[in-house]
Amino acid sequence: MIDKVSKSYGSLEVLRECSTAVRKGEVVVVCGPSGSGKSTLIKCVNGLETVNRGAIEVDGVLVTDRRTDLTKLRARIGMVFQHFELYPHLTVEQNVTLAPMKVLGRSKDQAQEKAHLLLERVGLFDKVDRFPGQLSGGQQQRVAIARALAMDPIAMLFDEPTSALDPEMINEVLEVMTGLAADGMTMMVVTHEMGFARKVAHRVVFMDQGEIVEDANKADFFANARSERAQQFLSKIL
Ligand code: ADP
Ligand code: MG
Repeated sequence: MIDKVSKSYGSLEVLRECSTAVRKGEVVVVCGPSGSGKSTLIKCVNGLETVNRGAIEVDGVLVTDRRTDLTKLRARIGMVFQHFELYPHLTVEQNVTLAPMKVLGRSKDQAQEKAHLLLERVGLFDKVDRFPGQLSGGQQQRVAIARALAMDPIAMLFDEPTSALDPEMINEVLEVMTGLAADGMTMMVVTHEMGFARKVAHRVVFMDQGEIVEDANKADFFANARSERAQQFLSKIL
């Protein structure tokens, strides 16, 4: 739940009274022009950025309360970025098992068993012993998704997960995300992939200049985006 969130960097106001909510099991796509505040908003959700005004609550925990243990909260929210940010000196398997062992205290056996299941799910079981540098961008991003899932997150945040990928690799990542959504994962996804939004999203949030301009169910958004700004945006990318 995001309630009237505002944020400035110095004198630059990048979020202005943003309110929306992502319900359990819901997939919300966030889109809008570059610089509109999408990354900032999504980072505020797991406390990677602080807000100046307003409140954010995730699963009953007030993220914007200074007393909240953010490390604990972040362990329960999976985040996948544009650049995969895998540990380059660790194998695929080690990338996926590290946090469950360190943060959740799982045994190596437990963590590996889970990692193997997840890597199989993202189609990379044969790559467990490779290093990230030996994989394609699409494969690395799928490892990043498996790594996030290894923590049994209550929700997943994606910030343009396919923007840095060559076109032929975009679908393999979107397919993994589509599978996650089908399994009922709660997801907030910043993307310009409107095909994914059409197929998978329940709701679409459109941002422009720090404001949430549209927040509509998918059918309404694509059939009759009300604002001129959203219409302009859609006409450019569809
Ligand atoms: P988007 O993800 O929609 O492209 P961002 O949330 O990254 O937008 O950025 C929103 C605005 O905030 C932009 O004008 C950007 O230049 C500015 N901004 C983002 N991060 C910082 C920062 N750490 N310091 C100052 N300005 C920032
Ligand atoms: Mg961004």
